[in-house]
Amino acid sequence: MVQFVSVENMVAFIHERGLENILMGIAGEIENDFKRWEQFEKQPRIPSHSEKGVIELMPTSDGETYGFKYVNGHPLNRDLGKQTVTGFGVLADVETGYPQFLSEMTILTAMRTAAMSAVAAKHLARKDSKTMAMIGTGCQAEFQAHAFKAMLGVTDLRIYDIDGHAMDKFEKNMSGRGFTIYRGVSTQDAVIGADVITTCTADKARAKILTDNMAGQGMHINAIGGDCPGKTELDKAILMKSDIFVEYPEQTWIEGEIQQLDKDHPITELWQVITGDVQGRKGDSQITVFDSVGFAIEDFSALNYIMRETQDTQFAEDIDLLALPTDPKNLFGMLS
Ligand code: NAD
Repeated sequence: MVQFVSVENMVAFIHERGLENILMGIAGEIENDFKRWEQFEKQPRIPSHSEKGVIELMPTSDGETYGFKYVNGHPLNRDLGKQTVTGFGVLADVETGYPQFLSEMTILTAMRTAAMSAVAAKHLARKDSKTMAMIGTGCQAEFQAHAFKAMLGVTDLRIYDIDGHAMDKFEKNMSGRGFTIYRGVSTQDAVIGADVITTCTADKARAKILTDNMAGQGMHINAIGGDCPGKTELDKAILMKSDIFVEYPEQTWIEGEIQQLDKDHPITELWQVITGDVQGRKGDSQITVFDSVGFAIEDFSALNYIMRETQDTQFAEDIDLLALPTDPKNLFGMLS
């Protein structure tokens, strides 16, 4: 039998354990896996692009466990009353090839993306960061805010979204959760006084959500929405004056903000900052950019955390995914 965490059980698990506890747990798992980065099999994710979006497979293996996520990105879905990002993921035993674990990964992707952003900010943002501007208050936004609160103590939020309903939704969802929220009238207004800016918009376009004048000295920019060829959020001028940190360069050159730059532009791999081999923030005036696209190892970490924490509990159910005939050479016998 394969253990399965459904959407309903993921929600129930979050209610029982607490969102911020889970975000911290996934963040810890990601940090541990990034510290053993070189043990993993890595490749850019495998995309299937279409006019309206992309469907991607994200595989990795540490030699003992193999994992992959199926995920989509369809920015126009919101006009149809549908979600931009949905997903599910699998872990399998490398020795036998048997799948072990299957989980919903729409909610889990939001948690792992938020945990990853907060891990990066822990290493890159100024230690006295208290205020975060959030541009784009769609599905990822509340998870991002909670991860930054749990890991960095950021509780002052300044939000802006072109869709007023998305801001209404955000304010309603976040009410009574320990945040002070200022609702901006524009991106320019929302970023005033921010220590950290999270860009979390969805548009399959070379957008300039942040222009050069919005990125001031000492800021950390958590750019998560530019994650596809032809889909970026930052003005190139911001990249030119910042230090840029990435997950897996081979994938980020294809999908991240740095697709706007020449291939010899200096970038730093975040795992090397996490191991302590390379310095992250070097001073209070430096601008740091986490050019997040989402990498397979983060999903592997999140799946392993959820598998371990839900194993043999009411949150994981056994599903009959694997055909196991009594005589392994007689698969046909299962039909009779
Ligand atoms: P969503 O569609 O739910 O929300 C996006 C929000 O951005 C919407 O509310 C929209 O109105 C707003 N928006 C669009 N253009 C804007 C603009 N110019 N200014 C201000 N707001 C604007 O999408 P989501 O699930 O929250 O995902 C957000 C983005 O993050 C997507 O692009 C998605 O592909 C990306 N993402 C990245 C990762 C990663 O690991 N880096 C993981 C998940 C999602």
